[in-house]
Amino acid sequence: MIEMSSTNKNDKTCELNTLSNIIALSKECTEFLDLLQDKRRKILLDIQKNENDFFEKNPLIISQFNALFDPSLYKSKVKIFMEELEDTVDSYCCHDYVEDLIDTDYDKSKCIVYCQLCELTKK
Ligand SMILES: [Zn+2]
Repeated sequence: MIEMSSTNKNDKTCELNTLSNIIALSKECTEFLDLLQDKRRKILLDIQKNENDFFEKNPLIISQFNALFDPSLYKSKVKIFMEELEDTVDSYCCHDYVEDLIDTDYDKSKCIVYCQLCELTKK
C-alpha cells in the first residue's frame, strides 16, 4: 500500500469532516420537513373537526397548499442527494465499524453498526 503524505491525509480528513457535516444537516432537513408535514396534517384535521368549509369554498388554495408538502418533491430529492453523498464518503473513508446500542424507547434499545470515522451506519 502506498503511504499518503501527511498533507494529503489531513486534506482527506478535512474533506470527510465537511461531507459528514453536510450529511448531518441533510438528515436534519428531512426531520424538519417531517415536522412541517405533521403540522400540516394537524391544521387539516382541525379544519375538519370545526367543520370549517373554507377549503371547500377555495379548492385551489387547498391543492396548492398540499402541493407545497408533496413528499415526492422534497423527500426523494433529499434521499437521492444523501445516497450520492454516502457513495462519495465511501471513496473518502476507510470505514472503521463499531457496534453500539442506541435507546429507541425508554426500555428498548437497538444495536447499530456505524463507522467511528465518518459516523455513517453500515448498510
Ligand atoms: Zn467511514
